[in-house]
Amino acid sequence: MEIKIAYLYSHQLNLYGDRGNIIALCRRAEWRGIRPVVVEIGLGEKADLKEYDFIFLGGGSDREQQIITADLLRYKGHSLVEAVEEGTALLSICGGYQLLGQFYRTATGEEIKGIGLFNAYTVAGKGRLIGNIVIETEIDGFKRMVVGFENHSGRTYLGAGVKPMGRVLAGYGNNGEDGFEGAVYKKAWGTYLHGPLLPKNPFLADLLLRQALEKRYGPVELVPLKDGLETLTHERIVERFGKKKKKLFAGILSKI
Ligand code: GLN
Repeated sequence: MEIKIAYLYSHQLNLYGDRGNIIALCRRAEWRGIRPVVVEIGLGEKADLKEYDFIFLGGGSDREQQIITADLLRYKGHSLVEAVEEGTALLSICGGYQLLGQFYRTATGEEIKGIGLFNAYTVAGKGRLIGNIVIETEIDGFKRMVVGFENHSGRTYLGAGVKPMGRVLAGYGNNGEDGFEGAVYKKAWGTYLHGPLLPKNPFLADLLLRQALEKRYGPVELVPLKDGLETLTHERIVERFGKKKKKLFAGILSKI
């Protein structure tokens, strides 16, 4: 078995260790005897994204988003959107997430066009939303805490047909107002969580791995890994927040 990964604009979109998401995904595949193939696709390079099992876009500053927007729009309506429609899994973080929405209006009023995979738009607000973040999401019918770090000035608002990735327990999330974080459309995920996200939340890495493999191999059962250290780290982060917001985390901490 193999997993073919497209890493888009790795030179521009790689903030706060976002590349760690690719590394985590590859290692967790290899440890199960699945061969990862990573193709970095840069500015101006041709690619048929439908050939991939998984697409990744990291975070980037406004300046970098401006540099890649025209190039990314080449994928509109054909390869990237079609790939997701055909079952490719995708993870996009912060700046990358914003560019998969309809548009991002910067603090100077400039509108950076997105490709509209997510029915969402982003507008820069006053002040940046910075800090560690914990969200609650549902995976395979179970409530899970996802932890990360966010740093963005954009406020993202979701429209019809797109679900949030989770509910904010601590931090800001999409816009700091409605309590939602991220976006999910089919097997495409958008989130503000850097950190990087997948090593910090191994159960999410495995979900994405399964979703990616499904495209070619149908439903796949992954052999469980020894995640002792990762789980312990994850629990300590949740606990640290729980101490500050005892009421909100009461039911959660009792299960750790
Ligand atoms: N430029 C975007 C913002 O500040 C994204 C930043 C990021 O990817 N961390 O909202």
